[in-house]
Amino acid sequence: MARYTGPVCKLCRAVGMKLYLKGTRCTSPKCAIEKRNYRPGQHGQGRTKLSEYAIRLKEKQKARWTYGILERQFRRTFADAARARGNTGAKFLELLERRLDNVVYRLGFAISRSQARQFVNHGHFEVNGRRASTPSLRVRPGDQISVVEASGKFVKETLEAVNLPASPPWLESNREELKGRIVRTPEREEVDTPVRELLIVEFYSR
Ligand code: SF4
Repeated sequence: MARYTGPVCKLCRAVGMKLYLKGTRCTSPKCAIEKRNYRPGQHGQGRTKLSEYAIRLKEKQKARWTYGILERQFRRTFADAARARGNTGAKFLELLERRLDNVVYRLGFAISRSQARQFVNHGHFEVNGRRASTPSLRVRPGDQISVVEASGKFVKETLEAVNLPASPPWLESNREELKGRIVRTPEREEVDTPVRELLIVEFYSR
């Protein structure tokens, strides 16, 4: 599946907040938001009043860029959420969180979602004992995620000396053994992605 390959710090600057797309750099003084917290481009420092549409578009882009997904797949995930029972916005975030690349990141086996995506693409992970190389794979409660034996040393070395945040309560992580389990589906309040999902629902319901 294709992915965005342009400069990612520009994306953070476009929405005016840290999206944490670059691992350890994001918490260092080198972060572009720390140095140039205004929109990229010639008129980036000018004042603008966002239209109702632009506010919703920005919220949608924020979520899409955070999870590193292109529009077509993002829209398809939204359609799945809209078809499901319950609150569409919360379901949408749940489906995004249940992507394998996001779960690998949340379990603390990668420093960013893009690195998690690359690890998965390169076949370093197994789901229930079978190699899984599709970052968009939707995991379910009870699934076991582990690093394939031959990649254990490589993944451990990559994560050495990096202080990654603790995993959320819907995941069980054993970082020593590089194994994890999906305990249950995430609740809305356990998803710390800073988006207002109602605005995304409104954006796609135009
Ligand atoms: Fe965003 Fe990270 Fe770049 Fe900072 S360093 S602008 S948080 S991607």
